Amino acid sequence: MFCKNCGAEIDPQAAVCVKCGFQNGTGSNYCSNCGTQVVPGANVCMNCGHFVNQAPKYDPSIQKSKLAAGILGILVGAFGVHNFYLGFTGKAVAQLLISVLTCGVGAAVSGVWGLIEGILILTGSIDKDAKGIPLKD
Ligand SMILES: [Zn+2]
Ligand SMILES: [Zn+2]
Repeated sequence: MFCKNCGAEIDPQAAVCVKCGFQNGTGSNYCSNCGTQVVPGANVCMNCGHFVNQAPKYDPSIQKSKLAAGILGILVGAFGVHNFYLGFTGKAVAQLLISVLTCGVGAAVSGVWGLIEGILILTGSIDKDAKGIPLKD
């Protein structure tokens, strides 16, 4: 493979390019597959068709819905439902236990906690699930 900054051929295992010192995989001047200089802003190498500057793509079917998570947090956040949904099981269990073990008294606390998290999800402050996968709109 080739350095994306200077186009020099580098070992795929190398952490940095020995020629320019850029971290392997950073830079956007050259195709990492064939070493051809790419047009600034282009997404595909004109020479080999290899994707350059490609943002990690996620399968939409595994992405959680931002709207669903936000609404769950606002409506039933006291039971941690939105955190179960997003995979934050520890936090979800804590919210559930606060509500259940206090016979509902603590539900006010975890309800506000869930409400705030629901708003943070809807406003995009929380934008990933427990696996780091971005939420979809
Ligand atoms: Zn380099
Ligand atoms: Zn190429």
